[in-house]
Amino acid sequence: MDTAIRIEVLPARMGDCLLVECARGSGPPWRMLVDGGPPGSWPRLEKRLSRLEPDERHLDVAVVTHIDSDHIGGMLPFLRSEYAEDVGDYWFNGPPHLPSKGRVEQRSVAEGQSLVAALLGESVGPVLPWNRAFGGGPIDTGDEFGFIEVPVQDGPRITVLSPTYERLTILERAWFETIDQARRGWLSEVRPDILEPLGDLAVVAARQTADDTTAPNGSSIALLIEHRGARAVLGADAFGTVLEDGLKGVAAHRGLPTLDVDAFKLPHHGSRRNVTRALLEAAPARHYLVSTNGDTYHHPDDEALARVVVTAPDGPTLWFNYHTQRTARWADPELCERYGYHASFPAEPETGAVLELPATA
Ligand SMILES: [Zn+2]
Repeated sequence: MDTAIRIEVLPARMGDCLLVECARGSGPPWRMLVDGGPPGSWPRLEKRLSRLEPDERHLDVAVVTHIDSDHIGGMLPFLRSEYAEDVGDYWFNGPPHLPSKGRVEQRSVAEGQSLVAALLGESVGPVLPWNRAFGGGPIDTGDEFGFIEVPVQDGPRITVLSPTYERLTILERAWFETIDQARRGWLSEVRPDILEPLGDLAVVAARQTADDTTAPNGSSIALLIEHRGARAVLGADAFGTVLEDGLKGVAAHRGLPTLDVDAFKLPHHGSRRNVTRALLEAAPARHYLVSTNGDTYHHPDDEALARVVVTAPDGPTLWFNYHTQRTARWADPELCERYGYHASFPAEPETGAVLELPATA
């Protein structure tokens, strides 16, 4: 069976670094890089990119979902590398897109404005294509339906599910502090990870947990990718509420009760603050991807995965890009059987999780 969408969740410690490919009739696939992981991830990403055929190293899109260190740490060296020049379009909400001036017509990349300079904190840098698919303007969900569709040449159908305009307004207040920390590679101090027995997953899933309120996460670019009948949600670190609204908006627009998808990259590394029951109910999936090694923030949270297991339709698979003490508990055969799900780990630690969705149309 032909593969329509291939998602590679590279090992990027506690961060995200995804390579997404959509097959085309002939020639190399349409290819998108989503984030670069935390500082120190670049050698691994560079090694992965170097495995592409030398004449097939073009990336159609590179997305910088938001400016937290565990997403842009590896993108900064990428931008200084030879690969940076061979990207069709960069999708990133930077200073030109923040709404402070209150005038929408100004919220767009001006001639000569440099994404590289904006991300690296330099006054000038090479001018690379920046939000071209959005007319140089901000990437957000628009005012009306909770989502917008992006025209993509000879590639998948793409829908933006996050951020909202309001979230970009809130990001603006935290912009300088956040980007400064990210450039310095700042991450929280590490506390020991205390694992609790999983027990009754219905009880774990039902625990009350606070919602994510951090400005950078709320500004995350989250996307729905559809190609040849396959459908995947890339949740970045987006808020559960924002994603839920976007997915419900798409479903309503298409006259569907829910938007069933094949794969769902869980938002915020499987945090209980982002992975809510309501979000999971809005887009039931067969495959759930979790990107983290658990460092620093001890993701994925038990509550998040319990919600997946008790909410998803029969027999979902959890795809982990790291085998850790925390994730290994979810492969307990007795637990898998009792709740009717599967757990998958990388064949080799270096490969991360690789999910291939077959073409059905
Ligand atoms: Zn993150």
